[in-house]
Amino acid sequence: MDIQNDHRFAINLNVRGIQPSATLRINELSNQLRSEGRDIIKLGLGQSPFPVPDRVVAALRDHAHEKDYLPVKGLRSLRESIAGYINRSERMRCTWEDVLIGPGSKELLFILQLAYYGDLLIPRPSWVSYAPQARIIGRSVHWLPTHAENNWQLTAEELDIICRDDPSRPRILILNYPSNPTGCTYTDDQLLAIANVARKYRLILLSDEIYGEVHFEGRHKSIARYYPEGTIISTGLSKWAGAGGWRLGTFIFPAELRPLQDAMAIIASETYTATSAPIQHAAIAAFDGGADLDDYLVQSRRVLKVVGEYLHRRLIDMKVPTQKPEGAFYLFPDFSAYRDGLAKRDIKTSPALCQVLLEDTGIAILPASDFGFVPDQLSARLAFVDFDGTAALALAGGDYAEKPLDDGFINAACPRLKLAMDKLEAWLGEL
Ligand code: PMP
Ligand code: GLU
Repeated sequence: MDIQNDHRFAINLNVRGIQPSATLRINELSNQLRSEGRDIIKLGLGQSPFPVPDRVVAALRDHAHEKDYLPVKGLRSLRESIAGYINRSERMRCTWEDVLIGPGSKELLFILQLAYYGDLLIPRPSWVSYAPQARIIGRSVHWLPTHAENNWQLTAEELDIICRDDPSRPRILILNYPSNPTGCTYTDDQLLAIANVARKYRLILLSDEIYGEVHFEGRHKSIARYYPEGTIISTGLSKWAGAGGWRLGTFIFPAELRPLQDAMAIIASETYTATSAPIQHAAIAAFDGGADLDDYLVQSRRVLKVVGEYLHRRLIDMKVPTQKPEGAFYLFPDFSAYRDGLAKRDIKTSPALCQVLLEDTGIAILPASDFGFVPDQLSARLAFVDFDGTAALALAGGDYAEKPLDDGFINAACPRLKLAMDKLEAWLGEL
């Protein structure tokens, strides 16, 4: 087929030549290889291993009959519930009108970039989809430099350097913490310093806090506390309530940014109309919370923390520098100590590393190049989610209710993660 010269394939130049999103590709490839009989350890797609809490599932069942189109910005009672949730957890005073509901925070991030005419600033590394979304829409992306010694985190100084040349340029800064792909988070002092620079240049600060509830110590704090007038909080059900496939995300705006929220709602009204009605009704149960959800979160955090620390320890023992995670379910190991051994096998880039690792061991991870690095940066993202989250929660809240989770817990609840580390260690040892 002559795609170049056939007018039926006049694909928008912003989309031509790019691939479907890396996270979804690795998931589909892993599933395909599994269906062909390969034993694949799925550490590619970052999907919560935990089940949707029972009461939230029951709420969805109870609302399956809800069939009407809902208001574009979302169901009022859900918007009230989310405002209450944010006010409780962040000691803020937002109202239901500040809340926008969408079919996943990913879609809201996309329509934010569509509605706002400005550059996108993102730290390197950042989640796989921010930059491709900007490219599809035709916005400029500026990757902000960070350093491994500083946990790959943005500093206020680096942000200032980028902004000072053209101080009044319209820009959106996306800050995501706990971070996908590193699992690291910011201290209060770091947030305050970044907030001050954001205020100085009147940036739109999109604070992607989708992993906030899975901060291992339950101590996540929003940067909106320090820059309330310019921060949009982004969150949803996907990561802390195990409901990625339900597709429900939310943005919480300061009243000052209402025109931006309204512009996004116009786009929503002409595209997806409104988010699924039964899902919105069910989400009220999740955001209203309760003792059962508190317990679910306490156990989820305990499990993620012990797994993250176990994998971190194993990687350090393999001489693979990795930041210690503080939340979420990701690690960002650096394999460059093995550069010479890898080069002997003609592995010189992170995509080649991930491809050969998958072929040789069945371990699926994503290359650093998908997170904004040049290909020869030999890092990769490992999503530690290939375990049975229902069984892990039961064990943590049962036999381990009164004692710390330990390596015995890992062996019992997460055998495939231990297997991944054993296989990786053997593979690196043979280089
Ligand atoms: N931000 C980050 C950092 C993510 O990892 C994800 C992945 N799900 C999203 C946003 C989008 O989440 P969702 O669309 O499921 O709300
Ligand atoms: N956010 C998840 C990840 O980084 C997957 C979902 C997605 O990318 O849409 O793996």
